[in-house]
Amino acid sequence: MVHADRVSKSFGSLEVLKSISLTVNRGEVLCLVGPSGSGKSTFLRCINHLERVDAGRLIVDGELIGYVERGDRLYEMHPREAARQRRDIGMVFQRFNLFPHMTAVENVAEAPIRVKGMKKDDAYARARELLARVGLASRADAYPAHLSGGQQQRVAIARALAMEPKLMLFDEPTSALDPELVGEVLQVMKQLAESGMTMIVVTHEMGFAREVADSLVFMDGGVVVESGDPREVLSNPQHQRTRSFLSKVL
Ligand code: ATP
Ligand code: MG
Repeated sequence: MVHADRVSKSFGSLEVLKSISLTVNRGEVLCLVGPSGSGKSTFLRCINHLERVDAGRLIVDGELIGYVERGDRLYEMHPREAARQRRDIGMVFQRFNLFPHMTAVENVAEAPIRVKGMKKDDAYARARELLARVGLASRADAYPAHLSGGQQQRVAIARALAMEPKLMLFDEPTSALDPELVGEVLQVMKQLAESGMTMIVVTHEMGFAREVADSLVFMDGGVVVESGDPREVLSNPQHQRTRSFLSKVL
């Protein structure tokens, strides 16, 4: 479903991604871990072409992301096309980014109405279903300010799902939450994984990685240091850098 092939990316003279290659099969969950500044968020942003890559390619569901190929050259695609590709890729961030002046159900229904032209009644009905799925049926008419961080993050997940993405990207979805609210968000993510969603999750929640992920990738300094079965990597890391990182987060 996702193929990264030697993806490189620099900001000025800072090489943030150095030839990253990885694969996520359909229906699988990949956890991406690594120290601050290792390039995790940048990599996620390249997958939906919020950042352009300098070299290499990203393929999602058979489509080259962000570029069109002519002969042996790649040209950046029209922004409209990039936006179309992005619609199929859901993203959930550390901060919930809900629209503060809209209720939960309005937040979830907004993109289907505006972007997909869905009828209002249908979009709201679907939004309520999605809110029920993340355990928030009774909070559908609440404004974000009246929801806990964990509830807001679950609304953000429902909002991403409303666009029926084929891939979900999570960038440290629980790291801004009070510890007692982390579990409810991870539980929703686990259910989503069990429903067959393909997911890439940047997280420091190693329990989640061990229990839910099909593969774990440890990145440091813009390179993949090691990857494999999460239980293997976590219990028997092969590299000193991985061991040192894990000793801090486990
Ligand atoms: P964290 O765990 O702190 O979120 P990360 O692994 O997500 O870190 P990135 O946010 O991808 O790391 O950043 C990787 C490097 O790229 C950092 O040194 C960061 O300062 C730099 N960087 C990220 N975005 C930009 C940008 N738009 N312009 C310049 N430098 C950037
Ligand atoms: Mg980050």
